[in-house]
Amino acid sequence: MTGFDDIILGGGASGLSLAYHLTRAGLSKRRILIVERAPKAGNERTWCFWENGDGPFEAAVHSRWQHLWMHGPDSSQKLDIAPYTYKMIRSGDFYALVDDWLERCPNVTRLYGNFERLEELPQGVRVWVDGQVLEGKWVYNSLYKPQMAQGGSSHLLQHFRGWVVETEQDHFDPHSATFMDFRTEQKGETRFVYVLPLSKRRALVEFTLFSSHLLEDLEYDAGLQDYLTRVLGIESYRVLEIEQGVIPMTDAEFPLHPSPHVLNIGTAGGCAKPSTGYTFRRIQRQAQQITSQILKTGDPIYLPSSFDHYRWMDSVMLRVLATGRQGGAEFFSTLFQRNPPLRVLEFLNEESTPAQDLALMLSVNIPLFVATGLEVTSSSLQHTLKHSLKRSLARG
Ligand SMILES: Cc1cc2nc3c(=O)[nH]c(=O)nc-3n(C[C@H](O)[C@H](O)[C@H](O)COP(=O)(O)OP(=O)(O)OC[C@H]3O[C@@H](n4cnc5c(N)ncnc54)[C@H](O)[C@@H]3O)c2cc1C
Repeated sequence: MTGFDDIILGGGASGLSLAYHLTRAGLSKRRILIVERAPKAGNERTWCFWENGDGPFEAAVHSRWQHLWMHGPDSSQKLDIAPYTYKMIRSGDFYALVDDWLERCPNVTRLYGNFERLEELPQGVRVWVDGQVLEGKWVYNSLYKPQMAQGGSSHLLQHFRGWVVETEQDHFDPHSATFMDFRTEQKGETRFVYVLPLSKRRALVEFTLFSSHLLEDLEYDAGLQDYLTRVLGIESYRVLEIEQGVIPMTDAEFPLHPSPHVLNIGTAGGCAKPSTGYTFRRIQRQAQQITSQILKTGDPIYLPSSFDHYRWMDSVMLRVLATGRQGGAEFFSTLFQRNPPLRVLEFLNEESTPAQDLALMLSVNIPLFVATGLEVTSSSLQHTLKHSLKRSLARG
């Protein structure tokens, strides 16, 4: 087939990360095409995550913190997270770093236009972009369409609005960020604020909810105003930037490999962690996994392990939150009160040992989590049985 080896649909976090990992790994003979609607301008989002040591995009990290505050409804803890560092990357810096690198890769082509559709061919894929027809051996699709509800799965939305504020007096400690602050009315949902101080007088303050419905902009603004004045005691500030977004939180299955030559990546490929919404590091892991698979076998199809205990635990935590059996305020603050911070962060980053996971499981509301765990297991067994039955019937 003529054309490209790899067509990446979407030049956002996952599309650009994949192109970056492939080209950095020395795969300079592969002809790579990245399709994106339009060149990125400015800073559209902020990515936070924690890691130990330097990551692939270290040069784009805008701020770093070694200490995090966790405020429950009536308790506060300052967490020393060493050897982790909590990092913040502004998307504008990430795009600039990756663009600069890809410009130096003659095997990478950028195409700006609207992806319309694709068609599987015997040995690849045909793709339509603004009426132009392109062909490739593999397509990596990062264009996310909200998942259909699947029997037994849980769904929440993580939605948020944040302000970069500037104050006249010193109000922030640039050495400590606020991971979660639940000193805000919960209204039967999970509502918290996080604060990322950029200097003594400047911070990104983000009002975040896990719930099934979005709010009106004015309601997010009211939450931010209330937090700044009532909790932080800041009367006078200027809003310099606004950031807003929604991340799906679901344990519904994402089709990783929807047709023979197509792989879904990023949010579309199930990278948003169901129980927390953290996605950026999972995107990097997926890009590394695809890259090493290509290096090993020449093709990108990788099989995730059939039973992933983190996936099961995510389902249990998500179901506890989505059913309102325990609110996020109580769940997350208890988790941090009863465990060393590293144990929780390693678990949430999926870098923990079985012994740490067991200790963590013993620290939660055991009857509630055992009952919910049984429910999740029974729903997923029913789902698997239904699918096997359908497949057998289809085969006749
Ligand atoms: C405001 C915001 C803040 C976030 N903060 C964090 C965080 O702190 N930590 C974290 O871990 N995760 C965070 N996330 C979640 C996640 O990391 C991001 O959503 C991330 O950008 C997902 O990467 P992606 O490649 O899947 O999607 P995107 O980055 O959205 O990329 C998809 C790309 O496809 C393009 N596209 C869509 N349709 C078409 C089309 N028809 N034709 C051509 N191109 C098209 C879009 O323009 C976009 O560039 C955040 C999400 C948002 C929205």
